[in-house]
Amino acid sequence: MQHVIGVIGLGNMGRNMAATLVKKEFTVYGFDLSADVRQLASEQGILPENDVLELAKKCSTIILSLPKAEHVEAVCLGENGLKAVLNQGTTIIDTTTSVAETSRKVAQELESLGVEFVDAPVSGGPAGAASGTMSMVVGGKKATYEHVLPVLEAMTRVRIHVGEVGAGNIAKIANNLLAAAHLITTAEALTMAEKAGLDPEQALQAISAGSGGSAASQVMFPNWVMNKAYNSGFTMALMRKDVGLAKDLVESLGLDLPMAQKTAELWRASVDQVEDSDDFCAIAKCTNPALFGEEK
Ligand code: NAD
Repeated sequence: MQHVIGVIGLGNMGRNMAATLVKKEFTVYGFDLSADVRQLASEQGILPENDVLELAKKCSTIILSLPKAEHVEAVCLGENGLKAVLNQGTTIIDTTTSVAETSRKVAQELESLGVEFVDAPVSGGPAGAASGTMSMVVGGKKATYEHVLPVLEAMTRVRIHVGEVGAGNIAKIANNLLAAAHLITTAEALTMAEKAGLDPEQALQAISAGSGGSAASQVMFPNWVMNKAYNSGFTMALMRKDVGLAKDLVESLGLDLPMAQKTAELWRASVDQVEDSDDFCAIAKCTNPALFGEEK
C-alpha cells in the first residue's frame, strides 16, 4: 500500500523533504505554524493543511521536522496534539534532532494507540533534503523501520538503523558534536598554516585530501566559509542546541571528556560574537575574524 504522507514543520529541512517526496510521486500533505511557509510549500506541490488534526486524519505516515524536542512532545502529546486523533496503524518518522528520552516517552504513549514511532534525524542540510540524498540514523523497532523503508529510501542516500527508539538521536548528537568540533579545529589548523606562510585555500585542499579531512574541510569550508557566503541553511541556534544536547548527554553519563567539554565551552562563548540567526559555520569567525570574517 502506498504511504500517504503528512509533513509537520515545513522549514529549511521539512519543506525540502516534502518536495522530494512529491517529486517521487507520493501524496504529501503539509502543516507549518507559519502561513507564509504553508504558501511556499503549496507552490512545490505539497497539499497545505491548516492544522495537524486535519493532516493526521488523511495520512498513514507522518514526518516531523521541528526545531527541538519540546516541539515534538507538544505536537504529539500536547493539547490539540496528534495523540487525540491519530489513526491506528499510523507511523511517525521524527527527523527532528531531538532528545532520546523525549523519543522514548512519545513512542511509549503512542504505542497503546497502535501508533508506531521512529526517531530518524538526518544530515545533509537543505540541499540533501531537496535532492533526496540525506543520511539518516534511525531508532525504532526493526519491523517499523522496514515498514517505512520506501519513504526513507526516497529521502536518503544512506540509512543506518542504530537500535531501539532513542538510538537515532544519540547517534545524531554524537555526529554533531564531531561536526561542531571539526569546524573549530579546521579553522585553527588553517590559522596556523596561514601564519606559517601558506595560502589558506591551498592549505584547505591539503587538509581535505589528508587524514585530517572531514566534512568541515571538504564541504563546509569550501562552500560556506572561505567564500564568506555563510548560507548553508543551518542556523547557529540549531547547532548551539545540538552542542548543548551533547554536553547534557556527556554530563548525564558522568563522563569526563575534555574535548567535548572544550567544544561546548567555545560554542557557548560564541554568543558574544555570533547571532543565533547566523549560519552555524560562522563559528569559524570566532577563531580568526581576519581570515574568516567579513571581506577585508
Ligand atoms: P527551521 O527553523 O528552518 O524549520 C522549522 C519549522 O518548524 C519552522 O518553519 C517552524 O515554523 C515550524 N514549527 C515550529 N513549531 C511548529 C509546530 N508546533 N507545528 C508546526 N510547525 C512548527 O529548522 P530546520 O533547519 O528545517 O531544522 C529542522 C530540524 O532538523 C531541527 O531539529 C534541526 O536541528 C534539524 N536539522 C537541520 C539541518 C539543516 O541543515 N537545517 C540539518 C540536519 C538536521
